[in-house]
Amino acid sequence: MVDLGGQYQAIKEEVNSSISNIMETSAFINGPEVKEFQKELESYLGVKHVIPCANGTDALQIAMMGLGLKPGDEVITADFTFAATVEVIALLQLTPVLVDVEPDTFNIDIAAIEKAITSKTKAIVPVHLFGQCANMDALLEIGKKHNIFIIEDNAQAIGADYTFKDGRKQKAGTIGEVGSTSFFPSKNLGCYGDGGAIFTNDDDLAHKIRGIVNHGMYIRYHHDVVGVNSRLDSIQAAVLRAKLPKLDSYCNARRAAARKYSKSFEGQEHIAVPVTVNGCAGICDTCDCHVFHQYTLKITNGKRDGLAEHLGEKGIPCGVYYPIPLHNQKAYVDDRYKEEDFPITNQLVKEVISLPMHTELDDEQINYITTTVLEYVNS
Ligand SMILES: *Cc1c(COP(=O)(O)O)cnc(C)c1O
Repeated sequence: MVDLGGQYQAIKEEVNSSISNIMETSAFINGPEVKEFQKELESYLGVKHVIPCANGTDALQIAMMGLGLKPGDEVITADFTFAATVEVIALLQLTPVLVDVEPDTFNIDIAAIEKAITSKTKAIVPVHLFGQCANMDALLEIGKKHNIFIIEDNAQAIGADYTFKDGRKQKAGTIGEVGSTSFFPSKNLGCYGDGGAIFTNDDDLAHKIRGIVNHGMYIRYHHDVVGVNSRLDSIQAAVLRAKLPKLDSYCNARRAAARKYSKSFEGQEHIAVPVTVNGCAGICDTCDCHVFHQYTLKITNGKRDGLAEHLGEKGIPCGVYYPIPLHNQKAYVDDRYKEEDFPITNQLVKEVISLPMHTELDDEQINYITTTVLEYVNS
């Protein structure tokens, strides 16, 4: 699914020399590399504050702690996503409220959010799934109208631009009150271990969060709030510093692969290719709205599971993200949820399949993959 070895070859000298420098100076935690990476990412994203932390799940949890969410507060998020989002809501004893997603973009459904809002709703967590932003115009409007925080889970869309209705562009993750991301190795900007970060333009919130990530300390050994231990280590920061200048070219390589995939599947009756908000299905050359963390097809003739098996036999990795709706996961089942509230997620879990997607895919590989998919789906 990913080719991390190929990427490493291109940054090997830089990474190896930074890492050996860290070994020599023993600045393993919060060394200069972390501070430099923070500044470089702030500048890339055009955001006032980046607060590095240990992973993307912590980033979400710390964002919620920073906003002062309290047990019993309701937090709305998507039913069709990775479990990290709902996990931290539950851990903080907030009340998760799962809602359905859109059939074309797989992102959180605005009408479903509006139906789910109550007087207890304190936050909405849109997940920019597979590399494309949720409808941030509508989310910001809802947030303002009901006084609800928007927390962007940007683990899958770092580098993506969101284009507002008025044409203005802003980087994914920097639009709501706070955003989070993950630097897990397979993410679009991945390090060589665990890593994550929180983004915000709010000075007070940034200050509060900087304390929370470090045991609630603002002055050494003065613990003013309950915090956690969540730090990015210097070695990961060094890897990320080598990769950040290449992030745009990584995104372009992914988009180029997506375009080729989608072109091969044009006109197919049983295959739905990813739809971007610009409606260009990844085919438009200038589209920067989707960074294709995953390239996800819908197989609409009931052959998804068979296809996954067939690809495996042909030596082609693939993934089903996600096979079970969150509302049906044992840890999160709840009487509040009714099957008829999740028609889209219930359908998607049967139809989606993600093809190999990374920066080193070549034409020969893409041709082999698309030919194999087409042969099976149309057999
Ligand atoms: C990967 C991911 C996370 C969690 O990130 P970790 O760094 O693995 O903790 C959270 N949300 C989404 C949508 C993700 O894809």
